[in-house]
Amino acid sequence: MSCPFKREEIICLFDVDGTLTVPRQKILPTTEEFLLTKVKPVATIGLVGGSDLTKIAEQMGGEDVIKKYDYVFAENGLVAYKNGDLIGKMSIQEHVGEEKLQLFINSALSYMSKLTLPVKRGTFIEFRDGLVNVCPVGRSCSQAERDQFAAYDKVHKIRESFVKHLQAEFPDFGLVFSIGGQISFDVFPKGWDKTYSLRFVEEDGYKEIHFFGDKTAPGGNDHEIYEDPRTVGHKVSSPEETIEQLKTLFHL
Ligand SMILES: [Mg+2]
Repeated sequence: MSCPFKREEIICLFDVDGTLTVPRQKILPTTEEFLLTKVKPVATIGLVGGSDLTKIAEQMGGEDVIKKYDYVFAENGLVAYKNGDLIGKMSIQEHVGEEKLQLFINSALSYMSKLTLPVKRGTFIEFRDGLVNVCPVGRSCSQAERDQFAAYDKVHKIRESFVKHLQAEFPDFGLVFSIGGQISFDVFPKGWDKTYSLRFVEEDGYKEIHFFGDKTAPGGNDHEIYEDPRTVGHKVSSPEETIEQLKTLFHL
């Protein structure tokens, strides 16, 4: 039995890292060929990556990635391409507004001005399109100073207390805090996970939206979109498994 849908009615969305490529590696030519010559003729295909477009293009074999796939969602969909054209671009300042953003940044700087740490360097707040990165030791620290902060933070819970303070001070700003890596935490609007990208495909009226990802457990960056009622979620542990599941789904 073949798939009951036409390619305009069914879409497969793929996480990139760990799902179509081995972590931090480039996509294999055989994986790409399978997607473009076997899957693309029977289903619409799209990428949903957490990284920016430059990083996605690097892993997916070049800038023409936005033409090879029907949709490419970079930064969880904050930057969205369809058929090679930019169809959406969102930034945290546009979403939160400058006034609120400054209240938040001023509060964070004020909190950091009262911290005593083993060392303090520069760049305590880094502004990106989709998030604000807050770093008590300062991002310009050396690797040794970074390790030193990480060890200090383990004992003194600097980041954890800082996040609790900000959450209490701005309970109605709709912000999510994520402590990751060694020295900083990210702040971004609620809902700016990979489900953000679904608004674009929903508009186009697909009957089934399939999502394939490797970090589908709670806390993983595929979790929300995998669990979303709008998608059929597929958990995979490697590009090989993604291909196997596609073969089963489409009887290829
Ligand atoms: Mg992944």
